[in-house]
Amino acid sequence: MGADSLSVRTKASTATRIVRREPSRPLQRSADICVVGSGIAGVSAAIEAARLGKKVLLIDGLPVLGGQAVNSIVGTICGMFSNGRDGYQLTYGIAEDIIRDLSRTGAVHYRQGVTNIIIYDEVALGRWIENAIRDAGIDVLLGAVLREVEVRDRRVRALGLATRYGDVRVEANGFVDASGDAALVWQAGFPCQEAADGPVFGTQMVVLEGIDEAHVPSREELPARMRERAASYGLVRREGLSFIIPGRGIAAMNMTHMETPLDPFEMSNKTLEGRDQADRAVQFLRSEFPKAFGKARVRAYGFPGIRQTRWIRGRQQLTAEDVITGREFDDAIARTAWPIELHDSGTDHVWRPFGEDHMHYVPFGSLTPRDADNVVAAGRCIDADNAALSSVRVMGPCIAMGAAAAHALDLAGTGSVHQIDMAALRQRLRDNLERKVSGHDVARGIRRFAEASA
Ligand SMILES: Cc1cc2nc3c(=O)[nH]c(=O)nc-3n(C[C@H](O)[C@H](O)[C@H](O)COP(=O)(O)OP(=O)(O)OC[C@H]3O[C@@H](n4cnc5c(N)ncnc54)[C@H](O)[C@@H]3O)c2cc1C
Repeated sequence: MGADSLSVRTKASTATRIVRREPSRPLQRSADICVVGSGIAGVSAAIEAARLGKKVLLIDGLPVLGGQAVNSIVGTICGMFSNGRDGYQLTYGIAEDIIRDLSRTGAVHYRQGVTNIIIYDEVALGRWIENAIRDAGIDVLLGAVLREVEVRDRRVRALGLATRYGDVRVEANGFVDASGDAALVWQAGFPCQEAADGPVFGTQMVVLEGIDEAHVPSREELPARMRERAASYGLVRREGLSFIIPGRGIAAMNMTHMETPLDPFEMSNKTLEGRDQADRAVQFLRSEFPKAFGKARVRAYGFPGIRQTRWIRGRQQLTAEDVITGREFDDAIARTAWPIELHDSGTDHVWRPFGEDHMHYVPFGSLTPRDADNVVAAGRCIDADNAALSSVRVMGPCIAMGAAAAHALDLAGTGSVHQIDMAALRQRLRDNLERKVSGHDVARGIRRFAEASA
């Protein structure tokens, strides 16, 4: 339709007015529960808290919701099924809603293997999160970086945040640290921890479009070729993964290893290095697998993918031995069977998978900083040793931890999260601890929802 056929106005306003910054106090807001970090753990915490009738404020330093699940394009939900052919779903809550709603547009796919995963379209997940947060009536504050935490008598009272539009102060009864880097607990001055034996590497993910799915290398072939030929392309990492949603000609590629230091200047430089690595990886794919990737284009570079940086010191630390032996805790709030997946080297990573009957658990004590009564951590910044964290930081258990944080703060009320009725908490979280919906049924459900919406 041409402009002629539209009703257009031809006179544009020319009026302006002079404004000048006046000294002002920060904008004030309050909530029952304030969640810092809108990655999958924070989103789960915020939605569960809103469903409990709480007034929730969800804050993120980025100008968009979704954290790494959306913006770093991680591409799959891991740790949400038990292992093997008869794998069953381990985490419910928002996980069920995501699978059901994304099925309707073909944006999720159940992939069975030794480990069972959900592959998802990150654009669809991003819109799902935005709609779900609005529908739940959750207030959001985006582009707000945490700068200050006010603590009195073992309680966090308020947060000070900087936004590009001015400063904000937020008061709440309870707080969830879902920042991934333990930003809230760190700023509050409570003890935190980092890997002691060198960095845990992150990854610059890319989404490629225009691939020929019929010729995509197998899960064994891609890493094997990388080991053989990576050096001649200048690749740091010598093994890689691709995740394809069938029928879309799109793949998320996980083929780089970059350091993710907590120094802001160093991290900025590493970000640019990560992009270079990703470009070299794409060149490798085009040249080594021309039938599959010869016409591939980069649709998107994710934000730098950060695995493990700094995390809280909690009442209890989850250890690698707890993970390997499947230790059952009286205060377990989440379960997973995901391998120990520690990216502690530039070239490769530790991958220690478990058998079909294996299950390990996350204790509530690892979500709770000892020195605070109204703070619960969730996601990749809970208390675990370096290896144990590498298993429970994946998205399935992150969703379960978010739910646990919301329910724990609800049960604590104005009291302490260290003194809640643990049986009541576990009763509320029983789906995430006991329910078993078969992976085959999940896959059938995905197909049924897709067909019903076609
Ligand atoms: C490359 C890569 C690939 C991965 N692949 C998979 C996979 O395939 N499947 C899987 O299940 N898991 C995968 N993982 C792990 C998983 O993605 C993450 O561990 C998980 O998404 C973490 O979720 P989260 O909510 O704890 O934290 P994040 O998603 O990191 O969210 C934290 C949020 O807090 C905000 N924030 C941080 N500091 C501040 C501050 N000071 N002020 C305000 N906001 C702040 C951040 O902006 C961010 O949005 C992968 C991780 C990486 C890095």
